[in-house]
Amino acid sequence: MNTENSSKGNFAPSSSEKAEKKARIVILGAGESGAGAAVLAKVKGFDTFVSDMSSIKDNYKELLDSHQIAWEEGHHTEKLILNADEVIKSPGIPNDAPMILKLKAQGTPVISEIEFAGRYTNAKMICITGSNGKTTTTSLIYHIFKSAGMNVGLAGNIGKSLALQVAEDHHDYYIIELSSFQLDNMYNFRANIAVLMNITPDHLDRYDHCMQNYIDAKFRITQNQTPDDAFIFWNDDPIIKRELAKHGLKAHLYPFAAVKEEGAIAYVEDNKVKITEPITFNMEQEELALTGQHNLYNSLAAGISANLAGITKESIRKALSDFKGVEHRLEKVARVRGIDFINDSKATNVNSCWYALQSMTTKVVLILGGKDKGNDYTEIEDLVHEKCSALVYLGLHNEKLHDFFDRFGLPVADVQTGMKDAVEAAYKLAQKGETVLLSPCCASFDLFKSYEDRGDQFKEYVLAL
Ligand code: ADP
Repeated sequence: MNTENSSKGNFAPSSSEKAEKKARIVILGAGESGAGAAVLAKVKGFDTFVSDMSSIKDNYKELLDSHQIAWEEGHHTEKLILNADEVIKSPGIPNDAPMILKLKAQGTPVISEIEFAGRYTNAKMICITGSNGKTTTTSLIYHIFKSAGMNVGLAGNIGKSLALQVAEDHHDYYIIELSSFQLDNMYNFRANIAVLMNITPDHLDRYDHCMQNYIDAKFRITQNQTPDDAFIFWNDDPIIKRELAKHGLKAHLYPFAAVKEEGAIAYVEDNKVKITEPITFNMEQEELALTGQHNLYNSLAAGISANLAGITKESIRKALSDFKGVEHRLEKVARVRGIDFINDSKATNVNSCWYALQSMTTKVVLILGGKDKGNDYTEIEDLVHEKCSALVYLGLHNEKLHDFFDRFGLPVADVQTGMKDAVEAAYKLAQKGETVLLSPCCASFDLFKSYEDRGDQFKEYVLAL
């Protein structure tokens, strides 16, 4: 049934629901996390209502309907939301959205889906955050656990929502990728193992342009941890180092670094990956499936997590060496007439392109450009000098790239039309034995729907060469 003034919705509070006076949970936003939270709330017997300002995807509507959950889309009906006992907010909704401000003003608790789901499971929680490397590390940890035969779920920004899994399945472990937006609305949730990969400026528009607010959000991953828990982090991150003392951490610390150094319990020494705690572990670095310095960090963090869970050394070694990687992250596409093509479309900031270039072992034709988020390209200046043989600017507005890179004197192609022309231009510029790397430093929204769309088109046109 449609509510008054509603474009669409199925809200139909039954009189019996009212009479029972069940606690009311309202979920704002019905994507993967919101729809999952709604199912869990309903299964746990709450008076559940879902409201989404935009349209809800058909598969989520079907999920809500199959659980007889009331929902609306296209708008928020205040009187159906402000009467909530608790609100679960999707991570995409900013904390200063008008409805959130109203709820906070009247004292209604606003929490995240992960916080809510955490109340209904005793599974061990392994949580991963950081500015870069979250998805890769989360997927790698999941791969190790799964390959070792553990009963494990993958959740957070990847795959099925934690709430839906808690409602429908039983797992002993969850490997959860957490963005700072999810952490913002987490209060009592406790990570048994917390992993913080790094902290570099990102999403500052959502944090009042204040870096400290963003840092504090990331450190929430350690809140509620006890001495029985573990905190794994990159020992050489200047921000993490500086902040450690401030946060009064109770968890056992497991810092990792690229080389053996004071404090680090995991590192590379004599071309061997070594983990010294809690159980000594080592393997040849060249056996790691993922290459590049950044992926060494990701492999170390994953190895420590698995080690802490008591997974055997043999299983960890095997899984770290046969991991297939994650799509759009330094993904090998093909070799065409001696030229390698690599898709790193997920490199949407300059820092991740730095790591991509750093891991290249041949000369590179770099395809970069797109929607610039205020980029400062000086970070990759030295690596472009050292590694690039040509550049392809791919974007609607390439002026900034011309201004910065043309003075390097490299052959340049300017492409404003799309991926097909960019791939063909790069192919013409590349010599046998070189690599064409798509690692754009920029968001994709000028010419593509998403970074996935950009990467998919790259692969399609490379395979058509
Ligand atoms: P996230 O989920 O945090 O966005 P991803 O694992 O999807 O991170 O990787 C995104 C990009 O960041 C990759 O294309 C890669 O170039 C870079 N990257 C991956 N891991 C790291 C790391 N540990 N440190 C810095 N950059 C990284």
